[in-house]
Amino acid sequence: MATWSPLTNKIRESKDNSGNRTYKITRITPHCWVGQVSIENGLAYFATTERQVSSNYIIGSDGRVGGCVREEWRAWTSSSRDNDNRAITIECASDTKSPYAFKTAVYEKLIKLSADICQRYGKKKLIWISDKSKALAYSPKDDEMLLTVHRWFSDTDCPGNWLMSRMSDLAEKVTAILQGETPTTDTYKVVTLGNALRLRAEPNTSSKQVGYLDNGTSFKAEKVVKGQNIGGVDTWAYYNGGYASGKYLLPTPVVTDPTPKPHPDPEPPKPVTQKYKVKTNTGAPLALRAASNTKAVCIVWMPNKSEVTVTDFVQGQMIGGCDQWARTTYKGKSGYCLSKYLTKA
Ligand SMILES: [Zn+2]
Repeated sequence: MATWSPLTNKIRESKDNSGNRTYKITRITPHCWVGQVSIENGLAYFATTERQVSSNYIIGSDGRVGGCVREEWRAWTSSSRDNDNRAITIECASDTKSPYAFKTAVYEKLIKLSADICQRYGKKKLIWISDKSKALAYSPKDDEMLLTVHRWFSDTDCPGNWLMSRMSDLAEKVTAILQGETPTTDTYKVVTLGNALRLRAEPNTSSKQVGYLDNGTSFKAEKVVKGQNIGGVDTWAYYNGGYASGKYLLPTPVVTDPTPKPHPDPEPPKPVTQKYKVKTNTGAPLALRAASNTKAVCIVWMPNKSEVTVTDFVQGQMIGGCDQWARTTYKGKSGYCLSKYLTKA
């Protein structure tokens, strides 16, 4: 049975392959397919060309994955029998000109596909060594996968300077997936019996101490990883260059700056409004006028005993021995009324 990544969207096998590999899979070699090819066109090309070229996978410009040479067979991709016997090769749709940039969907799929390949072959780490001779002299450990590039084996720009500048990012991101790291901004509080909590270089107690956190300290973890199991807890929080065991960490709500309370003005304005009641001699309503005289328009008639608010007193037309008018608000309407018909509420 042929082996394909579960991420494969379409399979069309190419006759251009050497059959079973002569080495175990220990490498991943990403290439750039010059031109934003679809997997349909890419697979069709490899299936029909007389140029004797192929790859294990093609990532099309929309991020879909095409299967071309099954994983157990050696593809003809990197101008090196030695490399392709060890490597799963992946052609990635790129721009037509240098630096042969990938679309985001393509690069993201390259990360996922590489992580998937590593996981299925029991690898915990994807390694990028930029120096060709050092890289090719390196023998990966059982749980390591090595990245290689076409330009090491032939006079070509492949995989392009765009990807070349991201090879270490690719290795880091894939390794992060393999090690179960989850980026986080969780806030933790150190809770020990009182002693300081050691920060370790690696998420285990046999690695060297690189710092400490006092009991009671709250901090925002940069990431959380799986590591040595301490008393039933195997998560470690990375902070300030070291790992702290989750056994001694209490997740706390994210601390946000408190909303500042409004504070009173240094000298609050004195109250200028007072409650009054309409009190006419006859029980008739009182006119609230636009100005302090009886010629001014009546805005509203205020029934006897109505509650009103007075903000000010002004001098106005003399009526029945009173020339004091009150600036008054009644049911949202403001005007003037003769003050002798008001009484304190
Ligand atoms: Zn190439």
